[in-house]
Amino acid sequence: MKIIAINAGSSSLKFQLLKMPQEEVIASGLVEKIGSEDAGFTIKYNGSKDSKVLNIPNHGVAVKLLLDGLIEHEIIKTIDEIEGVGHRVVQGGEVFNESAELNNVTIAAIESLASLAPLHNKAHVIGMREFKKVLPNVLQLAVFDTTFHQTMEEEAYLYATPYEWYEKYGVRKYGFHGTSHQYVSEEAIKLLDNKKDSKIIVCHIGNGVSITAIRDGKSIDTSMGLTPLEGVPMGTRTGNIDPSVLGLIAEREGKSLEELLDILNKQSGYLGVSGISNDSRDIAKAAHEGNHRAKLAMQLQAKRIADYIGSYYIRLKGLDAIAFTAGIGENSSEVRNLIVDHLEVLNVKLDQKLNTTHGIVGNIASKDSSVKVFVIPTDEEVMIAREVYSRL
Ligand code: ADP
Repeated sequence: MKIIAINAGSSSLKFQLLKMPQEEVIASGLVEKIGSEDAGFTIKYNGSKDSKVLNIPNHGVAVKLLLDGLIEHEIIKTIDEIEGVGHRVVQGGEVFNESAELNNVTIAAIESLASLAPLHNKAHVIGMREFKKVLPNVLQLAVFDTTFHQTMEEEAYLYATPYEWYEKYGVRKYGFHGTSHQYVSEEAIKLLDNKKDSKIIVCHIGNGVSITAIRDGKSIDTSMGLTPLEGVPMGTRTGNIDPSVLGLIAEREGKSLEELLDILNKQSGYLGVSGISNDSRDIAKAAHEGNHRAKLAMQLQAKRIADYIGSYYIRLKGLDAIAFTAGIGENSSEVRNLIVDHLEVLNVKLDQKLNTTHGIVGNIASKDSSVKVFVIPTDEEVMIAREVYSRL
């Protein structure tokens, strides 16, 4: 059976066609710069890759192009072969505590949550409507980044702001990267031989970074908040800061709140501290060449990730495994070392030979470590396809 996982952004549309339940990727690709005359369409299948630059005025054209591309490259014969569609949705608010079948009511609800994720949800809805037009009789599911974290208790998700803000506007912590945290924690639980009441901390460290405490397969706390700005320093985001900073800079530099939030989201983190780049490889290279601020950018992030691990250790009342995932978590032995160096008191130790093995997957802790340390490549598309498959 073939299921397609879709991630629609404001000007892009990523997809992966999977054979289920084998979880085999048949084809994947991307439409980018939708709305422009030099938009791009890339499709990868069977070890080959085809890229085109062409005029793609809107998402409707992008969807048609994608489906025609699958037929043209003989990946499928007709679109009827696609038996399910899973749409990634960033914000499900408190409305969705599980994946939802798309219909007029659920699509409207997703649209109404746009106030909590303006850029993302609107784009997702455009993608959904286009797919409903071309595949009206196929199961289409919205899979949310937030649902995995809906198991958090009040004391974990509420801010100590006026309670009316929560009641009136939904001001609370939602958490993100949920499909990734779910996928990685499920894989980690398998590596723990399906241990009952497992205690796992997943560190998703990519451009965006979030840390989640997972007890017995359920998220009990996570570092991102109302938006993906909260938590630890990231490629371009600050993570937590004292909000009074905004008042100070507004006054000194005469910037608006919108401009300041833009700086916290897009010009901070690795980029802001180092002044060099948001990419961890550039930062690591500069740090090795003796650049103090690049080194500091890495140290700041590692320290703050370790702070979360410490607090989640207490919330979980113990720890079976730390799982590293995403671009940096999967690939940077250096970042893993910097973090684990802070965890001496928990007796977490890495086996340096395993830690520095390129492409390593699985346990990289030393034999005498009290906690297992896993490297698990994340796979949000497989998680989305699993969700759709389970409903068919
Ligand atoms: P996104 O949040 O955009 O999905 P990714 O999970 O792809 O981000 O992570 C992007 C980050 O991963 C970048 O900072 C990049 O430098 C880093 N990264 C990717 N490959 C490697 C590698 N081999 N070694 C170190 N860092 C890497």
